[in-house]
Parts: sequence; structure tokens; C-alpha cells
Amino acid sequence: MLTFRWIGRRMAASVLVPLALAGAQSRPTLAPAVRQYVTTDSPLIALTHVRVIDGTGAAARADQTLVIRNGRITSSGDASNVRIPDGAVMLDLSGKSVIPGLVMVHEHLYYPTGPGVYGNLTESFSRLYLAGGVTSMRTGGNMNGYGELALKGSIDRGEKPGPWIDATAPYLEGVGLGLGQVHVLSDAADARRMVAFWNDAGATSLKAYMHITREELAAALDEGHKRGMKLTGHLCSITYREAAVLGIDNLEHGFFASTDFVPDKTRDVCPSGAATQASLLALDVGGRAATSLIDELVRRHVAVTSTQTVFETFTPGRPMPPGLDVLEPQLRAQFEQRYAAIATSTNSAYTALFPKMQRMEVAFLRAGGLLIAGTDPTGGGGVIAGYSDQRELELLVESGLSPLEAITVCTLNGARYLGRADRVGSIAEGKQADLVVIDGDPSTRIQDIRKVMTVFKDGVGFDPAKLIASVKGKAGLF
Ligand SMILES: [Zn+2]
Repeated sequence: MLTFRWIGRRMAASVLVPLALAGAQSRPTLAPAVRQYVTTDSPLIALTHVRVIDGTGAAARADQTLVIRNGRITSSGDASNVRIPDGAVMLDLSGKSVIPGLVMVHEHLYYPTGPGVYGNLTESFSRLYLAGGVTSMRTGGNMNGYGELALKGSIDRGEKPGPWIDATAPYLEGVGLGLGQVHVLSDAADARRMVAFWNDAGATSLKAYMHITREELAAALDEGHKRGMKLTGHLCSITYREAAVLGIDNLEHGFFASTDFVPDKTRDVCPSGAATQASLLALDVGGRAATSLIDELVRRHVAVTSTQTVFETFTPGRPMPPGLDVLEPQLRAQFEQRYAAIATSTNSAYTALFPKMQRMEVAFLRAGGLLIAGTDPTGGGGVIAGYSDQRELELLVESGLSPLEAITVCTLNGARYLGRADRVGSIAEGKQADLVVIDGDPSTRIQDIRKVMTVFKDGVGFDPAKLIASVKGKAGLF
């Protein structure tokens, strides 16, 4: 009995261990494969005289000091007021800014490498995401099966560099896609089995895909929610409104995938892409139909993910996307040919659709919706991990958000969705030191987001240039 009580008291005491100590215990020892990219991993660091953009939407604060101890922010405030503990490694960041590590929710560890083929790029992409400032990400669909789950484990154990990952199970897809890498659900029971199987294997999140039926989606939601998993969808057989009523947590691709406005849509069947685009081109962004759908999503707390980067590559007249030089030469040439073909197309629906869908995303946010963001490195290529995450922020500002709002969408909003806002997503005492140091001021010039100097994950500083150099000209091979 005494022993039992003693254990009980020990357990109670351990719950009260200060966060900073708990953080120290959870920080893994970094393997040489990770250490080669690390610029600082001192347990005590002070970032001094830095402009803090905290991720909440609050105005930037000049001349601040942040103290990081064992991977956590232990003090933050005016440089003149914060006491710097003895022995701290000091980094004078006068003229620089710090934002929270990006929390992006439609990332992939694969890339289109050939017609209908998605290559496993777990190694190169995980480094590029981190280099781009992404310290937390959800994969918005998994083509690599166990590969992604294994990568997540390796990163968590300090064996490989990369962001924290909410690892999604392979796609929950119905009949009609015709991709050999994707399982085709046979019925609702199959959907339930698949959720259970992949959750048991380590997946923590779910993605429904275009041809899933309402019955299969309902079963997947039920099984997933029982297991504490959230489910998002890139839908077309099911409308956004139907999915919201079924209890979906999140919808992908802004409103590009909404089939709600297709006249006489058959239930559980995808309309043609052309019919969907025509319905969206005819939509009045401030009109009754659009507003009613937005209100329904807000009322039911369904988050919407902006993935403008992938749609930008479909749209004529847009700039060449950043980061192409990390691709292995054949993949790069493949995309550049495609870019040239799109640039000369004169009748693309995206010319009108792209700006209209930008306005829909802003309308959703302004109506109180939880807008979150990702990049979706798929389509016909050209959406490069890390680089495209920075581009997504620029596109959100182009859409009409202030730079501070765009930063919130890509940090705190993502963290809120993932249920991790107590740990990451903003800069505050007690939170994990996931931080991006920027040589500029993205609160006034969003394009400064590209000038990443150091990415701190869990208080460990990584050199983006070294991470990028390790994959330059080779992304596509690994
Ligand atoms: Zn995707």
C-alpha cells in the first residue's frame, strides 16, 4: 500500500513539472544526419532587438527580446525590460523579424513525376519544408503509405530533419479516379476498416477524396472521430454543404472544389470539371447562394484550406513559381514546358476563376470562418515544398488580406485547427520555440517572407541554405 501511494504521489508530482523541464525531457538527441544542418542548439538562447510578429494578428513590436530555454520561450518583451540569463547564447537580430514557425495543412511528401505517377519525395521535401519556415504540417493526403508515417517517426526521434507532421492516412476514395496508387473503397464498412487500420498504423489524420459517397464519408467520420482524428476532404461527389451536415472538419482547395452550385447535380456523383468551373464562374461572390454556403460552413465550424499555389500554376500570366532549381533537371524541364503552354493559352477558365476564388476565401474569413492554408505540391508540378509555402502567404495578401492576417492564417489558424494552439502557432511565453527569423519585415512587405535566415524548431536553429543545398537539383530522386 505504501509503495502504491508513493508511486501515486510521484505521478502527481510529475504532472506539476514546469513546462520548460518537460520540454527538455521531450527534446530528442539529434543524429548527425540532423546536426549537419543545425546552427545553434544551445539550451539557453536570447534573440535580442528583434521585431516580433507574434502570429495573433497583433501589430509587429520593434526591439524585443525572446529568451529560449530548453526549446521553449520563457520570456518575451521589450529589449530594455527582459533580463537575459547568464550563459545565454546571444543573437543580435537588429533589423530582423521573427514570426512563428509556419503551420501548413495541405502539404505532401510526394510530387507528380510522370503522367499519373506520384513519386515519393519524403527525404527532399521534408528538408525543403523546414528550410521554408514550416515547423508543423499536416499532409493533405498520402500516396506513400507507410513511408510518410515512418518519416514522421524519424523526425520526432531526431533522426531526420523536418517539421512536426500530422500524418494523414492514404486517401479515402470511391470509384472513378483510376489511379493505381489509390485504394478504391468498396462500401461504408470498407471505409471504416481503412480508417481503423491506418490509425492503428500511426496515421493521425484523414483525407476524403473526390468520388467518395456520403455513406462512406459518414462511416469514415464516425470511426475517425471516435479515434480523435480529424477528416478533411477534396470533394466533388459530395457538396460542401452535404459534407458540413455530415460533420466534416475541413474542406480543401478554398471553394475551387465546391460542387454546391452545379445545377441539377446528381447526389454522390462528380459533375464534370467543366460543369463545376462553369457554376463557379457564374457565382456571385457577395450574392445569396455564396453567402448562404459560407454561413453554413462557419456555423458548423468547418475550416477551409486555401491552396492557391497549385491553382496559380494552372493560371496563365502568373509568375514562374519559386524554387524550381531544386528539382532534378528532367522534372524541371517538364514543368517549364507546361508553364510555357499555359502561358500562351487564351481561353483558360482559371483567368477569371483564380481571382474569384481568392475573393471567396477572403469572404469566408471575413464571415468568421477558420481559413487555414497549404500548398498542395501536385497538379502538373511547379509547387515546390517550402518555397510554395512562402508563395501562399504572398497570394493571400494579393487576395486582400493584410500581411499580418496572412501570417495568422499560416501560423495560429493552422495550429488552432490541429488542436495545438497551446504549444505552437504564435509567439508567447510558455510556447514551443518554433520560430522563423527573417531578414526584413514581412508585416509590411510580405515578400520578405522569402528571406529566411534561421528556422528554429523546438529551440534548435536550422540553416535553410544548408538544407536547400542538400537537395539542389535532386528533388525528384529522393
Ligand atoms: Zn493535395
